[in-house]
Amino acid sequence: MLPYGISNIGSNLVIKSGGRLIALDPVTQVSADLIFVSHAHFDHLMKKVASPVIASKETIELAEARGVKISAFSQELDDIRLVDSGHILGSRALIAGKNETMYTGDFAGRPRGFLGKLEPEHVKNLIIESTYGRKEYAFPSIASVLKIAMDKISKAYDRGLGVSLHGYTLGKAQLISYFFKAWRPLIFDRRVENINKIYRRHGITLPEPDYVIDEPAELPNGPYIYVAPMGQRVNVSPVSISFTGWAIKGRNSSLPISDHADHDELVSFVKAINPENVVTVHGFDREFAKELRKEGFRAQAFGDQQVDICDFM
Ligand SMILES: [Zn+2]
Repeated sequence: MLPYGISNIGSNLVIKSGGRLIALDPVTQVSADLIFVSHAHFDHLMKKVASPVIASKETIELAEARGVKISAFSQELDDIRLVDSGHILGSRALIAGKNETMYTGDFAGRPRGFLGKLEPEHVKNLIIESTYGRKEYAFPSIASVLKIAMDKISKAYDRGLGVSLHGYTLGKAQLISYFFKAWRPLIFDRRVENINKIYRRHGITLPEPDYVIDEPAELPNGPYIYVAPMGQRVNVSPVSISFTGWAIKGRNSSLPISDHADHDELVSFVKAINPENVVTVHGFDREFAKELRKEGFRAQAFGDQQVDICDFM
């Protein structure tokens, strides 16, 4: 059974705090007093959100741009605080009660460009994402990865070749736009630019593109930088680089820049908080919980439990 007030309704994670039942990033319909939406990635967002929502205003705007309208929301309540988790624009972790329970949502373990990281705060119960909770996922420094990318781009420009840079449309593509702003001409895919506009409205200094295109067929000849969605075929340009944490295990056309904490950052985050209970969610949740138990923490994976909400109500 999961610790204090943490449980599930179906596949959704819920906590009980201050007499409220709070659903954390539910992906299916759930009956709760409050729904927390940590950020606007689709794996954390229902298609239709009914109950009162707690989320940042940036998340609400990004969700709406992606077709999910949320009418009633608050950014904080008397006994619930949201703190920046550094993952993408507007991403938040939730702290319920007087430092009772923290749910991290997706979070970054290091600053990148205009994004920060989630700072540890002491809580009794920690619900932590564990996307990269396996030892082999230790990311190199951002500076060293950018140097490799800049070298590849320089070589391509010397040969008169265009370069496409791929990342998730929301989040990574904005970081790419920021990191590679000095290269011209700078071409953005329209879906990327639509999200970039929202970032600019919230004060993030993203470069203006020289062109915005709908299809790779519109790419010019000669050197250029094309910022494109992850899913798009990577051979649209003579040189292509994808940016993802999974590049640690991947092909050499991809480089490891992630918006998640890597394994070592996850471990130091838990140690810095030193909670009484840890619940791991997403990715290598079982492996990571096991490792934390070896380190002396009372930890279990959300995926391991089978309790129903009735067990603790
Ligand atoms: Zn995410």
